Amino acid sequence: MDGSWTSGLSHLECARCQTRYDAGEAHNLCPCGGPLLVRYDLDLVRATVSTEDIAARTPDLWRYRELLPVLDPGNVVTLGEGMTPILPLPVHGRAIGVPGLLVKDEGLLPTGSFKARGAAVGISRARELGIDRITMPTNGNAGAAWATYAARAGLGSLVVMPAEAPAITRLESAMAGSRLYIVDGLIGDAGALAAQAVADGWFSTATLREPYRIEGKKTMGLEIVEQLGWRMPDVIVYPTGGGVGLIGIRKALDELRTLGWLTGEPPRLVAVQSTGCAPIVRAFEAGARTAEPWADATTVAFGINVASAIGDFLILDAVRDTGGTAVAVPDEDILAAQAACAAAEGLLMCPEGAATLAAVEHLRGTGWLSGDEEVLVLNTGTALKYPHAATVPDPPVLPRNASLPS
Ligand SMILES: *Cc1c(COP(=O)(O)O)cnc(C)c1O
Ligand SMILES: [Zn+2]
Repeated sequence: MDGSWTSGLSHLECARCQTRYDAGEAHNLCPCGGPLLVRYDLDLVRATVSTEDIAARTPDLWRYRELLPVLDPGNVVTLGEGMTPILPLPVHGRAIGVPGLLVKDEGLLPTGSFKARGAAVGISRARELGIDRITMPTNGNAGAAWATYAARAGLGSLVVMPAEAPAITRLESAMAGSRLYIVDGLIGDAGALAAQAVADGWFSTATLREPYRIEGKKTMGLEIVEQLGWRMPDVIVYPTGGGVGLIGIRKALDELRTLGWLTGEPPRLVAVQSTGCAPIVRAFEAGARTAEPWADATTVAFGINVASAIGDFLILDAVRDTGGTAVAVPDEDILAAQAACAAAEGLLMCPEGAATLAAVEHLRGTGWLSGDEEVLVLNTGTALKYPHAATVPDPPVLPRNASLPS
């Protein structure tokens, strides 16, 4: 790691009842059921580092070390994650009436999804706290990322994923030496199996059940602000499963505003789901602060096939507090947006990322977007993990020595 190292880590705080916990010990949920959030001494951070100092550092997510929970750089487990590009999408943007469309392309991260951010910080912190084996239920990408970083850190991992998770994520987990189990069911069923491993002494790193994954995903928000020149876009559109990324981006913006590194109105945050699994959208529309589990969840955007999220209230608060919205799009629209963007821009997004494009088109259609905004969507992973989702017809197969059809 380049340069000096100070973390502003102060303590943990329950997001539901605000009870404080010592960050020097390993914790899962608060007894009240609330997830724990990491709190920092932001006065210390402000006194330690400036935005110019950060700009001079290596372009990975550890450049934000003062706002990350790892105390000793010797515990950092890295595969070079972070600082993914923000790209304009002018042609597709104009086609859907939002010329100021931008994408942050998380498909370039190690293990091919933004889950690498949460895994890098979560595994580094697990190592720092002396945890030697971790377990989680996953829709695929999180398991692949945590198994990979666990291998790099020398930690054991036990991963449980639904049979329908993208096949490559099985291989990634298994090749990283994880104890991998496949369940004939959904991620909730995988969770029940992982809970048995927890009873056997494996540390639970399930979504929001340990506090440090959010801190890794938060760096998406930090990067967006730094990459745009310490300012925010008007709207950020996020494909929402457990919602950790959205909660993290919101947390990043709040911390930067408290630091005084960012001024002005926060971006409107938009949570996107598939009409095949839209518990957050349904709760948003009903004016509820928590979401009922979605029955028979199914969508081609497998990473957001989450029927029940323990951070539901944090997602809904983030959307409402910023004047954002929650929108569900059908799988046909997701696949159509994926194909249209690939042909117009040369950027093939994963189905979850393409869901944000379909949502932008929908929100322009309803007038929620006027078309003048700078709208940033997250492509949360590489499309290369989803060959089964492609919608193009098989190409013609020609006999040898054939003439090309004209
Ligand atoms: C996990 C995942 C999501 C959803 O992330 P959350 O932060 O849990 O809402 C979106 N896209 C992809 C590709 C994923 O793997
Ligand atoms: Zn609590």
